[in-house]
Amino acid sequence: MLAQRLPSILPDLSLEEAVETTKIFSVAGLLPEKEAILVTRPFRAPHHTISDAGMVGGGHIPKPGAISLAHNGVLFLDELPEFKKNVLEALRQPLEDGYVTIARSSITATYPARFMLVAAMNPCPCGYYTDPNRECRCSPQQIRQYQARISGPLLDRIDIHIDVPSVRYRDLAAESDGESSLSVRQRIQRARDIQIKRFGMCNARMSNRQIKEFCPLDKGSERLIEMAVDKLGLSARAYTRILKVARTIADLEEEENILSHHISEAIQYRSLDRRII
Ligand SMILES: [Zn+2]
Repeated sequence: MLAQRLPSILPDLSLEEAVETTKIFSVAGLLPEKEAILVTRPFRAPHHTISDAGMVGGGHIPKPGAISLAHNGVLFLDELPEFKKNVLEALRQPLEDGYVTIARSSITATYPARFMLVAAMNPCPCGYYTDPNRECRCSPQQIRQYQARISGPLLDRIDIHIDVPSVRYRDLAAESDGESSLSVRQRIQRARDIQIKRFGMCNARMSNRQIKEFCPLDKGSERLIEMAVDKLGLSARAYTRILKVARTIADLEEEENILSHHISEAIQYRSLDRRII
């Protein structure tokens, strides 16, 4: 449910993005008849039985796959470990590059594929491993095997890992308004504007050189991240993810400098790097 609502808090498509997205849908033959241009961010949620051609694109005359149809929008993979291994591994390169090249003997096609990947998985095959109220019946080996279906290099490419505990009925039924999508969206738009002003794009796309330039750390933050890298055995890729996410948390607070609490929050979002079993 959270994943589906995500597009409602994302900034509006720019004209350039709307044109790109429309072109891809048009090539795929999916443009609704009466719509000249798509104005909302796409949300694609392919089933876990999808083939690699369906995911990254393919066919005799290569057509865009789910990752290109999610360009400028959200790609949601529910039950992540159920996806075929080759399909998940095929995501790695596009996640890095923002495009995908499909080579066939007769023709090579390149499609844009810059999407926000959102994935959900249970902590174990039965689903109750981290649940304080239910008993998990899986063996440690079953849990290890289940979690190992997601490779380290794929996990490395996911910025934020969050444990979402089950919701109790009385909380579900409670009448709490919470914050409206509109006000969240305005906050996100402000953070995005700061980033565009800073270097013309969003933080996720920072190069290593830009990370050095725009994510300077004070001594305390440096010590914190050093401890996390040593203790959790984080990869170099996870390290740069932490810096980018910390930069974004600071931007959301409209804080010019990255402070140690931004770094410690970003470190918390690497929970799957420290495997629980
Ligand atoms: Zn279990």
